[in-house]
Amino acid sequence: MTTDTANATERCGFIAVLGAPNAGKSTLVNRVVGTKVSIVSPKVQTTRARVMGIAVHGRAQLVFIDTPGIFEPRRRLDRAMVAAAWGGAGDADVSLLLIDAERGIDRDTRAIIERMKTESKRAHLVLNKVDKIKKPQLLELATQLNEEGIFDEIFMVSALNGDGVDDLVAFLAGHMPEGPWHFPEDQVSDMTERLLAAEITREKLYLQLRQELPYATTVETETWEEFENGSVKIEQVIFVERDSQKSIILGKGGQQIKTIGAEARKDLEEILDRRVHLFLFVKVREKWGDDPDRYRDWGLDFDA
Ligand code: GDP
Ligand code: MG
Repeated sequence: MTTDTANATERCGFIAVLGAPNAGKSTLVNRVVGTKVSIVSPKVQTTRARVMGIAVHGRAQLVFIDTPGIFEPRRRLDRAMVAAAWGGAGDADVSLLLIDAERGIDRDTRAIIERMKTESKRAHLVLNKVDKIKKPQLLELATQLNEEGIFDEIFMVSALNGDGVDDLVAFLAGHMPEGPWHFPEDQVSDMTERLLAAEITREKLYLQLRQELPYATTVETETWEEFENGSVKIEQVIFVERDSQKSIILGKGGQQIKTIGAEARKDLEEILDRRVHLFLFVKVREKWGDDPDRYRDWGLDFDA
């Protein structure tokens, strides 16, 4: 038996995960949920929509809202992502500000802190990537950030290897509002399988392709057919903006897209726990970045 009184009553709450691009927000959410619900890459702005990852600790249900990194918006898509990120904070019971401890307080993080101050918002500070830096440097950063006066608790974690994450989750579980759970106990995300499948392919594009190209792509699941033997056939289209981008994605003799497809299929089989037949097509659709329907699919506001 545990002496943890937090476990005595049913609790449920929303936790917004804020932070600069690449701070490790999606990695943290995936870790607490225990499966991939949000895609991760070393490139910035991988997360486009607001993704919910749902975890259970004792009798508390924790609904993490993984947000696109907050940064200075230029394109329409950027503006919609920033709006989604702040919207996520507005809806939440608790906010976490995640900082890459190795990078420290960069411009994006500074901008978030200033906006929080202006709006009189508070958060718990999560210093992430502690596996990459030395203790004294970490403590100095913690002291410096503490002086901002907007953080209640400070956690030091590695979302990658899990250090400190259990303590963070236990703390949050004890601080959720009392009340019934919002989701069935086995639900891990608010994303449909079709959308998650498209996101997985987009993650592989980010991992395989160089530089700016992935930002010019979007992926849609067109068909989803389940068979009696338990396997599923998934057809997806990768949309690009120009013909030249199409040939890069296909690669020499179709080698590039074959690799992307193989990587995506491997992940999907693990996540869906069944055999997957994945078929990828590449199509040119000019200006998809200005198409309201794409925004709706991601739950983003076109007019943000
Ligand atoms: P997001 O943009 O904030 O969602 O960041 P991601 O979760 O996509 O992570 C960005 C990069 O940082 C990826 O390459 C992750 O593998 C890496 N990363 C995330 N957390 C950690 C950590 O705790 N330690 C290390 N070394 N790398 C991490
Ligand atoms: Mg992310």
